[in-house]
Amino acid sequence: MPLGIYISIPFCRTKCTYCNFASDVFSRVVFNRYVDRVCADIANAEKTAQKMGGRFEPVVDSIYLGGGTPTVLEPAQLGRIFATVRAQFEVIPGAEITVECAPGTLSDPMLDCLLRCGVNRVSLGVQSFVDHEASAVGRRHNRANVIDDIAHLRAAGVTNINIDLIAGLPRQTAESWEYSLEETIGTAVPHVSVYMLEVDEDSRLGRELIAGGTRYHAHFVPDEDATADFYLAACERLQSAGIVQYEISNFARAGFESRHNLKYWTRQPYLGFGVDAHSMLAATDSEIDAVRIATADSLERYTSGFGLQHNCVSHRAALEENFFLGLRLTRGVDLRELAAKFGEKALRPALATIAELTDAGLLEHSGDFIRLTARGRLLSNEVFEKFIIAQPSASPKTAAVV
Ligand code: SF4
Repeated sequence: MPLGIYISIPFCRTKCTYCNFASDVFSRVVFNRYVDRVCADIANAEKTAQKMGGRFEPVVDSIYLGGGTPTVLEPAQLGRIFATVRAQFEVIPGAEITVECAPGTLSDPMLDCLLRCGVNRVSLGVQSFVDHEASAVGRRHNRANVIDDIAHLRAAGVTNINIDLIAGLPRQTAESWEYSLEETIGTAVPHVSVYMLEVDEDSRLGRELIAGGTRYHAHFVPDEDATADFYLAACERLQSAGIVQYEISNFARAGFESRHNLKYWTRQPYLGFGVDAHSMLAATDSEIDAVRIATADSLERYTSGFGLQHNCVSHRAALEENFFLGLRLTRGVDLRELAAKFGEKALRPALATIAELTDAGLLEHSGDFIRLTARGRLLSNEVFEKFIIAQPSASPKTAAVV
């Protein structure tokens, strides 16, 4: 089965207040050192996969550069990364090749570089079409930049464009959210991702909210119920515009679903490179299902050569993953397929959980499939936890730093 390749570029022009990723603003002097390390890791991918007990595939049908803001690199640095991938792997014709871009960073030289590298899909981190909402969280673009970038991309032949939106930003209201949705639909892009603001200790805004403070406009963050309403409004409005929900946070016109991201939810193999990047490969040992590999989660640890974290996924754990990853998809999980793969007996403990969640209105059945209800999508983490608790692993996952 062809691989997906993910490459993390953890550099940004500014740090958004809500951001909980391993990305930050760094001096350009570190860029070259980082690109050197990423390219060395790509060149060693086959050896690393074998050492970890993963089945290496040399054929690639999706590449995704995220982060971070990959377009803050110099065009020559991006070119080096793509050249290294193509030297090590056979990238099939028609492969989906995505780069995440901050609106306003798509200069002519950058766009030329992306086209030369074969990029055919661009994901724009818009978050809001309301300029004061974007600036309140530290974004440096405005609505006009987004409209210009989309026109620029289309003129260059890139029509497969995603817009990211966040529900629950400071100062967002039902009216302003509706405006962002209408503007998004008005651009006629074929793919939209809608995330609800995450409140956790890993972002400045999250910490301020937890502390009950007012920095970063924290006191203007809509409450949880309002944010949930915004999300539900997005599901309805995008659906009515023909942009259909296919995953909890993702919506697409027919044929424009993200092939790369679908690999994560359907447990197809992928390799990740760079800071805080994750890989999953089928295991060469038939006693286990797969191996998962993670790189260091900070730039400092990554560039100083910190080793890889390695987990073996037992068959029982793989069944859990099929539930909590597959249920993210609107089509849900095919119980007949799981029974054929893992056996009726292995599936039995999950059936009681499915019945309980169905009674609670969080899951519904459709033929052989189970899927989240609208309420289940809002409470998805609680649903996923139930499947992990319901499936005690027969052999514990092993973890090692290699
Ligand atoms: S651009 Fe994206 S990755 Fe960078 S700080 Fe903002 S949210 Fe985080």
